[in-house]
Amino acid sequence: VDDAPEPYEPLFEDWTRGLVVVAHPDDVEYGGAAAIARWTGQGKAIAYCLLTSGEAGIDGMPPDQAGPLREREERAARTAPA
Ligand SMILES: [Zn+2]
Repeated sequence: VDDAPEPYEPLFEDWTRGLVVVAHPDDVEYGGAAAIARWTGQGKAIAYCLLTSGEAGIDGMPPDQAGPLREREERAARTAPA
């Protein structure tokens, strides 16, 4: 079938430090967790840059509460034991 999607090209991996830039807390976990787990398993250093605290992301919770909560969740997720 000619309309089958092309497989992804493998990414080169001859690097040691990476920066992940996302809009909100939890975007990394939903979008890139498997790749980041692979890379950290290879010994690469990965830093995150979250452009917001996700303060508008919880229905019914004021931004001044939601932002700090989502920051705490993100930090806890990064330090949870395997
Ligand atoms: Zn998001």
